[in-house]
Amino acid sequence: MSGTMPGDGDGTRAVRAGLPEPVKHEPTLPGPVFAAHYHLPGDPTGPYTYGRDENPTWTLLERAIGELEAPGQDGTETLVFASGMAAISSVLFSQLRSGDAVVLPDDGYQALPLLRTQLEEYGIEVRTAPTGGDAQLDVLDGARLLWIETPSNPGLDVCDVRRLAEAAHARGALVAVDNTLATPLGQRPLELGADFAVASGTKQLTGHGDILLGYVTGRDAQAMAAVRRWRKIAGAIPGPMEAWLAHRSIATLHLRVERQNATALALARALRERPEVTGLRYPGLPEDPAHKVAARQMRRYGCVVSFTLASREVADRFLAALRLVDDATSFGGVRSTAERRGRWGGDAVPEGFVRFSVGCEDPDDLVADVLRALDASAT
Ligand code: PLP
Repeated sequence: MSGTMPGDGDGTRAVRAGLPEPVKHEPTLPGPVFAAHYHLPGDPTGPYTYGRDENPTWTLLERAIGELEAPGQDGTETLVFASGMAAISSVLFSQLRSGDAVVLPDDGYQALPLLRTQLEEYGIEVRTAPTGGDAQLDVLDGARLLWIETPSNPGLDVCDVRRLAEAAHARGALVAVDNTLATPLGQRPLELGADFAVASGTKQLTGHGDILLGYVTGRDAQAMAAVRRWRKIAGAIPGPMEAWLAHRSIATLHLRVERQNATALALARALRERPEVTGLRYPGLPEDPAHKVAARQMRRYGCVVSFTLASREVADRFLAALRLVDDATSFGGVRSTAERRGRWGGDAVPEGFVRFSVGCEDPDDLVADVLRALDASAT
């Protein structure tokens, strides 16, 4: 029953994703399988030989993520990793060779510049362009791989995945989309034409701020075989406990996403009324510069809102005054977090820029806390 479900809604899909066929006296979701090796007499054939190659707990999780990222698309494959960065690295380092060119966003997750350095040391040409305005189109000629992050973190710009994918494919380039911020319930990159959907499952996908995870879903068997080989070589594998917790958490993905994203919109609407807030971005706000493109390709707009306060000092006072929101990095968890992004360096953002991740608190409580903290932080 797991593959062909009687219901087709996102909530139904999330609670049933990846479940095995029912077996009398077995649990609905089998517990984590802790195994470095498996009984393997005779020829070493799969599916389960050695713990770095395969694990039954990963298999169910990979099936679950695949059912969300690419429902009804036969022939796709999903592989899970120890973190989002492990998943991203697996695509870049398995698909690119010395002499190739790759296009990255210049406003994406702040570890991308680290990747750039590593790729260049391996003789790969790295080109960058902003996410907004589909500017990556201008540097595509001759590239082997286009890397898209939409919405981008932390600026929340959006690009037209379908348009970029068509242009990249016309030039013979592969296309990967970082789907971390949207989650598969917010956006399905493979349906928009991408070859790979890649994400950090550390964020809203698992949503409790207690595990790191990454995944790659791809449509091309040969390309995915290279990604699988990279996982085996790098050994960047999730532990079975993390994989099981992730699968368990996906059952509530739809509930969390609905609540968090609705509150994010309510928060954005409240912030829009405040004169001390500038540079407000939320792709779900009708007047947001990204809304038109986002509305075409996204099914939900995410739980992250970003905005700028007058200065570093004002932003720090605001963060300190919040009672329901942890001053912490990362995003997507059930408890709201916010941070002054400039404290890390690396992102091209003003000193007073705040990235706010909306959790599952009561919307009225959260918005009231934010408005009170804004009052308290006024100069
Ligand atoms: N991609 C995006 C958009 C991210 O925001 C992050 C982490 O913040 C990553 C990838 C990396 O994920 P992880 O921390 O799980 O390695």
